[in-house]
Amino acid sequence: SGRKTIIANWKMHGNLARNQHLVEKYLDGLQSLHANVVVCVPYPYLAQIQSFLQGTHLAWGAQNVAKFEEGAYTGEVSAEMLRDFGAQYVIIGHSERSTAYCESDENIAEKFMMAKRHGLTPVLCVGETLLEREAGVMERVVGRQLETIVRLFGGEAFADTIVSYEPIWAIGTGLAATAEQAVAMHQFIRDTIAGASKSAAASLKILYGGSVNPQNAIQLLHQKEIDGALVGRCSLEAGQFIKICQSVP
Ligand code: 13P
Repeated sequence: SGRKTIIANWKMHGNLARNQHLVEKYLDGLQSLHANVVVCVPYPYLAQIQSFLQGTHLAWGAQNVAKFEEGAYTGEVSAEMLRDFGAQYVIIGHSERSTAYCESDENIAEKFMMAKRHGLTPVLCVGETLLEREAGVMERVVGRQLETIVRLFGGEAFADTIVSYEPIWAIGTGLAATAEQAVAMHQFIRDTIAGASKSAAASLKILYGGSVNPQNAIQLLHQKEIDGALVGRCSLEAGQFIKICQSVP
């Protein structure tokens, strides 16, 4: 729905010099665009990205947020702090976090709501493993990931948010989902949310993530069911990221 959104997920990459170089190239290459472009950086670089992107048409965000407002939570970063640095988006529940740090669906749901409460747009990552796809249970898995939020906070929680379908087998493997596979899952995601709230489903953006590159972006981004992309590796190469953004029709 609306303009497509392309999000760069830098993951744990970068340093001050490299970031500056990359962002200057982004700004150069992304002057007239049909897409919303967002850059999600590691926490220490939020101030840097803010100083470069403030007043431009690019937005920025973080890759995680605490589920608590404030308090004795060593090492955590709150939604309020992200807002302090001008962040508008935050990635929630990326599989690289849920597997490595054992994030539960309930934790992810609380982070999702915390982001919303503070005016950040949550980018909720969902997706199945290869084993789950081969067993044909991918819709059950993705359905469960969505339903935790619906159960705890109601379907309206998804209004004006982003869900990113990121099949785990496609992340960092060079093996993207086909447009058909992505479209089928995107339809399932929208139907699932519509079952809980029709208006939220209508305002929800559903992105695809997993080995998006300039070649496959063209077909993926031409699908009306695909509202944009979450880009890992190719966001670290300005030329490739710019090509992906330019392939938005
Ligand atoms: P890659 O684009 O490197 O496969 O990463 C995808 C991803 O995890 C985006 O969040």
